[in-house]
Amino acid sequence: MTRKTAFVLGGSRGIGAEIVRTLALSNFDVFFTYNSSFALATNLCHELRQAGRTCYCFRADVRERSSVDRAVNEAAGLLGHIDILVNNAGIVMRGKLQEFNTLAFEEIFNINVRGPFFTSQAVLPFMPKGGRIVMVGSVAADRSAVQGSAFYAATKAALSSMARGFSRDVADLGITVNTIQPGVIDTNKFPSPALNPEAEHAIPAGRKGLPSDIANLVRFLASDESSYITGTSLNVDGGYLA
Ligand code: NAP
Repeated sequence: MTRKTAFVLGGSRGIGAEIVRTLALSNFDVFFTYNSSFALATNLCHELRQAGRTCYCFRADVRERSSVDRAVNEAAGLLGHIDILVNNAGIVMRGKLQEFNTLAFEEIFNINVRGPFFTSQAVLPFMPKGGRIVMVGSVAADRSAVQGSAFYAATKAALSSMARGFSRDVADLGITVNTIQPGVIDTNKFPSPALNPEAEHAIPAGRKGLPSDIANLVRFLASDESSYITGTSLNVDGGYLA
């Protein structure tokens, strides 16, 4: 039987690391990228290999097409094919209209939108029928809850919109494309939108989300059971947008 394989863009920490762990522990052979978090990435690989899983990590900067292409070719060489691509890498940059500058605009769109375009295109030659492309967007695409989030929100709206279009483009290849839109997720490095304990009460579930809340949906989307779900955005936000 052919083993299922996954490529996770930005798997070194936070939500991405949990996605890597969850897929690896669900018997996927996993290849993930990091950019600056070399130690975290190699520790995660070591942890999963100790648990008997197949895991590779590789440095890639999504701002450079050649870097992304190198990572995808390396993954295809090691894994043979890529069943699921998870575009998780992303940054947040806050700033109001009055102050946001052109360099920041280019940086956030390069990483959050142009990068996922590069990876999605690069994996196609290696993705068999039944393949999955999953974007990690944000509920910010649908609601700007805090000041200074316009540009981040715009990248995530572009990402989910791009994913809907991609789903039509690759439907006849038997590949599905969806976006998971997390709400406020408890990660160490990602500054949550000025969320104070009071604001946390605005989440009907009564708590921030966990990286595993996102990783569990990735696992489902990676499964055969999700084959009729494509071209959509799925919120995982404890009811924040309700
Ligand atoms: P995080 O802890 O900051 O991790 C970001 C990941 O992206 C890291 O693996 C990082 O790699 C990678 N990355 C950043 N810049 C990169 C670049 N230039 N090239 C390649 N990789 C790069 O973030 P997170 O909180 O887990 O968020 C993960 C995703 O969920 C993001 O797309 C974010 O927008 C989305 N999201 C998060 C929340 C939340 O509340 N946490 C809410 C909504 C949506 P290195 O560390 O190796 O540089």
